[in-house]
Amino acid sequence: MTARLRPAPGVLPALAALAAVAGVVGWLLAGHPGPSVAGYAGGPVAMAAAFVSCRSIGAMIVVARPVRDFWRMCASAALCVGAGAVVAFWFPTHERGLSPYVAGPLLLGVAFFLLAFVRLPRERRSLPQWLQVLLEYVTVAVAGSLIFTYLINDHGRPGAGPAVQRVTAVVGVGCLIAVVVIWRAAVTPASIVEPRALYRLAGAPVAAAAAFLLLVGGGETVVLWVSVLAVPVVGTTMSLGAYRQRQALARPRPAAAAPARRPGLRDALPSAAIVAAAVTAVLASGENLGWYQRSMILGVVVIAVCVVARQLVGLRAEDRLLAEVRRQQLDLARQAETDPLTGLANRARFSAVLAERVERHEPATVVLVDLDDFKSINDTMGHAVGDQLLYEVARRLGGFSARLGGDEFAVLLDTDDPDRTGEAAAALLAELAVPYGVGEHLLLANASIGVATAGPGDTAGEVLRNADIAMYQAKEAGKAGWTRFEPRMRQEVVDHARLGSELHNAILRRELHLVYQPVFDLTTGRMAGAEALVRWRHPVRGIVSPADFIPVAERSGLIVPLGSWVLREACEQLAAWQREHGAAAIRSVNVNVAARQLRESGFVDEVAAVLSETGLLPANLVIEVTESSVIEGRGVRDTLQALHDLGVRLALDDFGTGQSSLSLVRAFPVDVLKLDKSFVDGICEGADKGRLAVAAAVAQLAEYLGMYTVAEGIEEASQLERLRRMGYKLGQGYHLAKPLPPDEMAALMVANARAVPV
Ligand code: C2E
Ligand code: MG
Ligand code: MG
Repeated sequence: MTARLRPAPGVLPALAALAAVAGVVGWLLAGHPGPSVAGYAGGPVAMAAAFVSCRSIGAMIVVARPVRDFWRMCASAALCVGAGAVVAFWFPTHERGLSPYVAGPLLLGVAFFLLAFVRLPRERRSLPQWLQVLLEYVTVAVAGSLIFTYLINDHGRPGAGPAVQRVTAVVGVGCLIAVVVIWRAAVTPASIVEPRALYRLAGAPVAAAAAFLLLVGGGETVVLWVSVLAVPVVGTTMSLGAYRQRQALARPRPAAAAPARRPGLRDALPSAAIVAAAVTAVLASGENLGWYQRSMILGVVVIAVCVVARQLVGLRAEDRLLAEVRRQQLDLARQAETDPLTGLANRARFSAVLAERVERHEPATVVLVDLDDFKSINDTMGHAVGDQLLYEVARRLGGFSARLGGDEFAVLLDTDDPDRTGEAAAALLAELAVPYGVGEHLLLANASIGVATAGPGDTAGEVLRNADIAMYQAKEAGKAGWTRFEPRMRQEVVDHARLGSELHNAILRRELHLVYQPVFDLTTGRMAGAEALVRWRHPVRGIVSPADFIPVAERSGLIVPLGSWVLREACEQLAAWQREHGAAAIRSVNVNVAARQLRESGFVDEVAAVLSETGLLPANLVIEVTESSVIEGRGVRDTLQALHDLGVRLALDDFGTGQSSLSLVRAFPVDVLKLDKSFVDGICEGADKGRLAVAAAVAQLAEYLGMYTVAEGIEEASQLERLRRMGYKLGQGYHLAKPLPPDEMAALMVANARAVPV
């Protein structure tokens, strides 16, 4: 996960600074007058450090795009200047600065540098504000020109020709303006690049201006010093700037990274220019002026300083206000993108970063994390504990992560490699499974994880939705696992949604009906009862299996009316058989009931009402519940106890497949254990010993506890024989009878009663 924002390593600026020092040392060792190759090697090394520093920010996916663009431009600038420094090896010292092969890359570097600033988002300026900015630049440019002209004319090296002097003056003034541009960018309230980084960057034009001045004005030795030091210093300032920026980015809450603007400083700039220009004028006039002219100039300078000072004092209050407004703006902007509880990014920010990556066709994978059963922690331990747990979970996510809402988190990976994303998901799963110390509690909170990689043409929304779908699949596959999104899953979700709406109509249009699978007494061969199984005759799809639509019905809540209908229908059917066939009719009917139904508050009353309305006794009804529904359904215990007290029998369906089968038998008033088909399958020769042992143990357990056992899914005579010997009283399966429509069931029932009298 390279998206992780580590604190910046200080090694690069240190390397650049070292290159500068090493250059000087190398030069000194080589001896005067000609600088050695070692002396000049510092420039390329420092610029390489600057390039890597700037580039590393440009490559961080979590950083806002304008900031990345800015640093990319700076990296390009560093590259060009570095190239110039390398080319410079081939030229004698004095021709260097002016050779097009050296000056070309250097100027290109300057152009990139300026472009970086030009492209920065700016605050909106009114016309007077533009005028103010313009005047500021003009002031600085004029003052700079004066100073440079004076320095070059009066103190220039005799050897430097007029062309050199002109170039130097232009470059010098350009550098001064660059300083102002950077300064402005740093103090603007809209500044998105770290201001302290910008202040460091300003060192580059300052160094360049000084270098050019010295090149023209200095003696032989100075020129050599400059030619050795200038580039490494520029490289160091740029590396330092990038270092500052990374430090600011690494801080989780960059509140401290936005220093209040120092009031008055910016406004002091033109004033300083005026003062400097005036001083230059005094100096330039040399001995030609008398005391009178001098005092006139001095007077003008004093007045200028006073006017400026007065203005500064007036602006101070306004600046404080502006600083406060800016701080509030930053706070608001930050609040709009962070989740207050965990300090992570929120959904809006996560989506924006993801969208940016996707639009650029950069690899992106979303790892969506949803805590399993978080609600129960919230319900049982209180919201304070729940909140604390969410906070702790957030600390473990790493990378660029966000809380999307509730107990749902997301991590963005900058890769589409299936191996790497798989490893990341598995590692995260393991990390999250470690118990959490919250207050005096030690909590376990597993998570289900969905992984989706952006494909060509995917939007950010689609990638998130895909991850969501995969996460639900992980939940359905038994939680505490991770699943990678596959396109077929989307189809399944669509199908489920459609099935849900069609099921709604199916209940209204009476497309549902029941079939009955007989349950036989394995020792006598007599039919003991029957399990009612729902069928859906879909007008287009034909018969739809309950294995397909019952889960859909459970999720949508439709299972409640559907289950009510099944209960009433099955009871009415049994009552009808008993009326019609008397003693030949079966004694009881089994009805499957879902967890959701058990949680309905009126369920017990409903059962009682159906029994009394159909004239059945409670003993005529067996309610089948699965292990998982009993575990998950909170408040289910009371319902089951009430049903038991009513006299209705309870069967644990699919027994042995859950994780706590045995404890359930003790915790709930169970009358019947239905051994899951998977154990029956494993009963014959060559079967695995473990399943065989479970099948045998369940029979014994039931005998000790005085329960009935039903073996489900008997498909062969050999299975039947073994089960009977193990002690199974009752059995059900295709070998005995398939689920039958009511009329066929009735016929079989009567025939069986005749063949096997009680
Ligand atoms: P279940 O309650 O365990 O029902 C037994 C399932 O095994 C039935 O599938 C039955 O047809 C099938 N079966 C019986 N003998 C054999 C056999 O020898 N071999 C094989 N391969 N299968 C056998 P069905 O009818 O498709 O029902 C599937 C599940 O759907 C049921 O499992 C039950 O959990 C659920 N279900 C069915 N009807 C209802 C209902 O009315 N309400 C609720 N809540 N769930 C229902
Ligand atoms: Mg069943
Ligand atoms: Mg079953």
